[in-house]
Amino acid sequence: MEVTPNPHCGARTRAGDSCGNKAGFRTDHVGFGQCYLHGGATETGKKHAKAIRDDAFARILEMTDPALARIRALIDYAESEAVALSAARDILDRAGLGAKHVHEHTGPDGGPIPLDVRAGDLLDRARKLRSPAKAKPATRKKASATGKKASPPARGKAPAPKVDKAAGNIKPA
Ligand SMILES: [Zn+2]
Repeated sequence: MEVTPNPHCGARTRAGDSCGNKAGFRTDHVGFGQCYLHGGATETGKKHAKAIRDDAFARILEMTDPALARIRALIDYAESEAVALSAARDILDRAGLGAKHVHEHTGPDGGPIPLDVRAGDLLDRARKLRSPAKAKPATRKKASATGKKASPPARGKAPAPKVDKAAGNIKPA
């Protein structure tokens, strides 16, 4: 079975050219395989589309380690400081530690919160950012203590920052 990613259905039409419908058009596998007019909705068409999609994802996954290694090499060895800095920032952003995510946290008593930043914690934070609905609701001690409504920090600049479970109060960076 040929496994070639194609943004279009690509099936041969009676006119002799290839179908220009979007891949998987009007099927349950939009983006992969043939359109509904060219067998995309049949069991064979579904299997074919799944093979294309699985293959594409596998190849993307294969590239993540080399991509990270390349960025690491730029950080360590790039002749241009600007390139090295850009690569370093890219990694920090992807880890959720970019400048726009940096907040000052204080505990309920105003004291510091010990932060234990490990790879597992970063992964947990990344998952929470992807599904904010599942994240625990933020607690705003100051607002409840004074009875005033807390205005979101940095209004108009950026969306309100996400609050992790360790955060008591959040101040803009
Ligand atoms: Zn088609």
